Amino acid sequence: MKIPLLDLGSQLRPLREEIVAAVTDVIDSTTYIQGPQVVGLEQEVAQYSHVDNATGVSSGTDALLVALMALDIGPGDRVLTTSYSFFATMGVVLRCGALPAFADIDPVSFNIDPRSMREVLDADTEKSIKAIIPVHLYGQCADMEPILAMAQEYDIPVIEDAAQAIGAEYPDSSGEWRRSGSMGLAGCFSFFPSKNLGGIGDGGMVVSNDPAFGELLKMLRNHGAKPKYFHARIGGNFRLDPIQATVLRIKLKHLENWHQARRDNAAYYNKLFAGTSLTTEHRLKTPVAVYEEAALAASEPRNHHIYNQYVITVEKRDELIEFLRSKDIGCEIYYPLCLHEQECLSGLMDKPVLPHAENAARTTIALPIYPELTESMQEYVVEQILAFYQA
Ligand SMILES: *Cc1c(COP(=O)(O)O)cnc(C)c1O
Repeated sequence: MKIPLLDLGSQLRPLREEIVAAVTDVIDSTTYIQGPQVVGLEQEVAQYSHVDNATGVSSGTDALLVALMALDIGPGDRVLTTSYSFFATMGVVLRCGALPAFADIDPVSFNIDPRSMREVLDADTEKSIKAIIPVHLYGQCADMEPILAMAQEYDIPVIEDAAQAIGAEYPDSSGEWRRSGSMGLAGCFSFFPSKNLGGIGDGGMVVSNDPAFGELLKMLRNHGAKPKYFHARIGGNFRLDPIQATVLRIKLKHLENWHQARRDNAAYYNKLFAGTSLTTEHRLKTPVAVYEEAALAASEPRNHHIYNQYVITVEKRDELIEFLRSKDIGCEIYYPLCLHEQECLSGLMDKPVLPHAENAARTTIALPIYPELTESMQEYVVEQILAFYQA
């Protein structure tokens, strides 16, 4: 059985006619920059994310970049974030001329650890930290309540990197569910094809509950022009393509169903892993023991996870990956190297001590979790993983 990590064809097929017709309409309209499709998607994503405003941009990376530019982050500033994320989270900070300040992660959720953040903030005697970027990794919200409280205490704006987490939810202490992107000053989404809401190319969006910040983002995504040809601020060309917008509007209607299918798949994996008849002694050598702890955290009511990735911690990772690939099972490492270990940082800052982030980078793998994955495919994946550890 061949099981890819992601199968975009199976998502496209039932929507293909509708998508081709909508893209054809955009082509025939000759409105190729901004226009009604972009505005329509912005309104729909704002409503979906429970926010005041949304600004379509060219990618998730540019969403983060334009948000930092709006905050005037520059040389001498630092941005507090996690070291266990996709490169863009740190890349945008460096492109602004600022430096990252890293906190370690929680080893169970893989998200930034508020206790470690507190230590970094307390050590920042120069008050150089000018923004906080928590990442909702793999589709699960970071522990936002303590993060927001700390941000308020230190008076530092929070930009959520929600690139992997559109639609994920987190309950505040009043018991109200908060949508990813709606909790900080702004939230950044990516429509890269492998995200839960993916276009047929690059795209992104910044959402915010602050109308003035939304206005500023709309200005900066278009070279900071307001009015046209008058530039009080320096922006860039960060505009969202209307062809992407029209495709994303079609897909947005299915997003909740896809999230649910991913959650169902995750629950089935949890059940398959938990139901194995391995001895206790052997279990410690399998991903199962570690996994159960992670599954528990992920199924806490405070984590309305959208499972952009389903990630387990394993021993003998390289051998397992080689084995799974030989069985035609797709898997991937997100991410093999922490951000603080990247070569492009060398010489720019002292290397921080982040044992949990480094351990995650050495021991995690992502398994197929896409909505169209069938139960028998999942059974095969788990069977093969168990066979590997029993051999
Ligand atoms: C995908 C991703 C981004 C960047 O999004 P692009 O649309 O690929 O530019 C940023 N942060 C995280 C955590 C991501 O997963």
